[in-house]
Amino acid sequence: MNAEVIYLDYQSTTPVDPRVLAIMRPYWTECFANPSSGHRFGQQAAAHLRDARQVVRSFVGARTGAEIIFTSGATEANHLAIHGVVKAGSPGRQHVITTAVEHGSVLGVCDQLVAAGHAVTKVGVNRHGLVDPAEVAAAITPRTTLISIMHANNEIGAIQPIGAVSAVARKHGIPLHVDAAQSAGALLLDVEALEVDLLTVSGHKIYGPKGIGALYVRRGVPVAPQFAGTQEHGLRAGTVNVTGAIGLAAAMGILMTDREHETRRIAELRDDFSALLRNALPSSFVNGAPEHCLPGNLSITIPGVEALDIIDALPDVAISNGSACSGGHGQPSHVLTAIGLSSAQARATLRLSVGRYTRPADIERAVTKIGAVVARFTTHVSSA
Ligand code: PMP
Repeated sequence: MNAEVIYLDYQSTTPVDPRVLAIMRPYWTECFANPSSGHRFGQQAAAHLRDARQVVRSFVGARTGAEIIFTSGATEANHLAIHGVVKAGSPGRQHVITTAVEHGSVLGVCDQLVAAGHAVTKVGVNRHGLVDPAEVAAAITPRTTLISIMHANNEIGAIQPIGAVSAVARKHGIPLHVDAAQSAGALLLDVEALEVDLLTVSGHKIYGPKGIGALYVRRGVPVAPQFAGTQEHGLRAGTVNVTGAIGLAAAMGILMTDREHETRRIAELRDDFSALLRNALPSSFVNGAPEHCLPGNLSITIPGVEALDIIDALPDVAISNGSACSGGHGQPSHVLTAIGLSSAQARATLRLSVGRYTRPADIERAVTKIGAVVARFTTHVSSA
């Protein structure tokens, strides 16, 4: 990316950390053998894959490497978790509880389940985007097979009370799946402490490569595979993306040493960004849970503007309206409407996210540029 570009979309994706790239490189051209091959080279690849699996195991706090299933990313991990648990459950109509603010990959599976005759309850959130565990408890029926809830939201950064939800799930003996794609870079994940049964992570949100992710499946939780085959304990057929797994593990290794320090720096940058923008745009307001928000996330509504117009007017600033996955579809974000924003307010909302390579000067330049464009649009509107 050219040096003039200000990248403020770390929640959509992150660049591969050069340290990760250096570790991955030989796995494309030298140690490329299929880990399922019986020859020496295949067995070497299998040994490296085992090591990578152990890093992922340790990153999520799992007990054994066998509980880690490599997938093509968080979307696939979410599909495997939800479809897999429902398919492995008792025959007949089943019930899944999720929330109104999940990522499209979870909501998409839920739509498929409903079309197949199952039931889904989407629990609402408060104005900060937080779920009330009591509402999750109230939604439970004798047919409830799974609770699926994201750790942190990809648009407004709201961090859900997973510990309290898992207490509810435990009490009723229902497995809990957590989509941690957004939180993995910022929050300590510990499936034992949180008592989570299935957990999703993705490489490209944490300075690893795209096309790799993992699903943690607690030993003993029945999950049916999506396609038949032998790899990944029969749960995810297909030649394993060894290079990707190595990259995912390398990215996690960096986070395990740097995360605390890094998130402190990023939260300070985000707070400065927020203060500068609100000062420049006094009618703006910030969405999300102030005390329970991802450190790099800033969701800001600037009444009277269209976020898409701002994005178009700033070709050298990478920012989003809503999430990258829903951006540009013309529909107001389901997350912003779930927290009570009107459709005009949702359309006037920018998602700005800072990360590992954001410098204070990037923020200052972005505030000047956004401020100038907003002034241009609002002057234009008021004089029209
Ligand atoms: N879940 C959440 C919360 C996300 O933010 C994303 C990515 N936007 C995904 C799932 C999907 O991740 P992937 O691109 O790895 O499939």
